[in-house]
Amino acid sequence: MHTSQRLATTLGLALCALAPPVTAQTMVDPVSLLNDVRYLSSDSLGGRLIGTPGADSAAAYLARRFKRSGLRPAPQGWFQSFTVSLSDPAAVRAGIAGREGENVVGVLPGHDSRLRNEIVIVGAHYDHLGTGKFGALDPDSAGIVHNGADDNASGSSALIHIARKLHQNPPARTVVFIAFSGEEAGLLGSDYYVKNPIFPLARTYAMVNMDMVGRLRNDRLLVYGVSTAKEFPGLLDSLNNEARFDLKATGDGWGRSDQSSFYAVGLPVLHIFTDLHEDYHRTTDDWEKINADGLAKVADFTAAIVRTLADRREPLTFVNVPPPVLSASSASSASGYGAYLGTVPDMADRARGVRLTGVRAGSPAEKAGLKGNDIIVQIGDAPVADLQSMTNALRAHQPGDVVEIRILRDGVEQKVTVTLGTRASS
Ligand SMILES: [Zn+2]
Repeated sequence: MHTSQRLATTLGLALCALAPPVTAQTMVDPVSLLNDVRYLSSDSLGGRLIGTPGADSAAAYLARRFKRSGLRPAPQGWFQSFTVSLSDPAAVRAGIAGREGENVVGVLPGHDSRLRNEIVIVGAHYDHLGTGKFGALDPDSAGIVHNGADDNASGSSALIHIARKLHQNPPARTVVFIAFSGEEAGLLGSDYYVKNPIFPLARTYAMVNMDMVGRLRNDRLLVYGVSTAKEFPGLLDSLNNEARFDLKATGDGWGRSDQSSFYAVGLPVLHIFTDLHEDYHRTTDDWEKINADGLAKVADFTAAIVRTLADRREPLTFVNVPPPVLSASSASSASGYGAYLGTVPDMADRARGVRLTGVRAGSPAEKAGLKGNDIIVQIGDAPVADLQSMTNALRAHQPGDVVEIRILRDGVEQKVTVTLGTRASS
């Protein structure tokens, strides 16, 4: 691409010649990785809802695969069990209150006699929506298995292959691999872990989360949480000199997934993400749509991030940002509250307004002629600065309301008239 990158690549090659063999040259195998995704997202696991036999089978499978990759169990074993609260209203609504969930935990001991007492966590949730009785964006499909191939058989499968890769040449710090349960019901597994840490949080260096990493398109990779440590932007930039993603590294640690539990207790975090798509939280999130080569490439990149963190001698400088009133996690389900518009917001874009990556088929947004790349700047009387103000604007309306929406299309402001709907009518 640019001259500076060519120079860096040349330097990178020169450095590789000095590095010990094995390490960077062993790439994650896309075929084997896709096999894991296929199993975890097969109908036989029933959508991996926490507390169901399908989720238990997924957990047992992950523990076996962790073992085959050279990991050791945590001191109390491969599984960290927890019970979903009986009083959590969200859990009651989802029909999972009182059920047992389990995080799967594997350990790769560090090689450095001093630094091995510190850990780097790499995590990914393996649970999904079951048969879609909660959390689904296609409620008409309740009762049908939601396989969650991208969300998040992709990330939990990548854990196995990152473990195998790092095991060939373990870094200085201990790396702890955690496949979380209960993410879809409100980050339950990661929340339980930070309240009941197996390894002291004070000796935890950083947490790297993969959630939805199987749909790489045009090499566009999002990394959230880069502002949680001062060193992260530079570190990611230099790793990307070799990987050459179209990298969008932004944001604090208050994201939509398990990294947020770790940021809340004061740890630097990263969330690796290949972005939303039309199949998100729908029955169509299937393994056939996984970009296996892209997923392997993301796994290689994540392994490089984890290795770099686990080998780093200096501390990271944690950056604290207070939690938002409404986190980005609410924004993705914004259309589940108030009136329904049916847009797919671009989570990476932080410009004025809300840029769309697309609109849902048959949605009010589609009927009104909205399309990908449109930037919503006003809904009714409410200016839209970001996802949060868009959520608030939609909540202020009822299904059936006719509202004027102002958009920027190719830099020109236009107005469209939309009849807002309800979820069920979509
Ligand atoms: Zn999800």
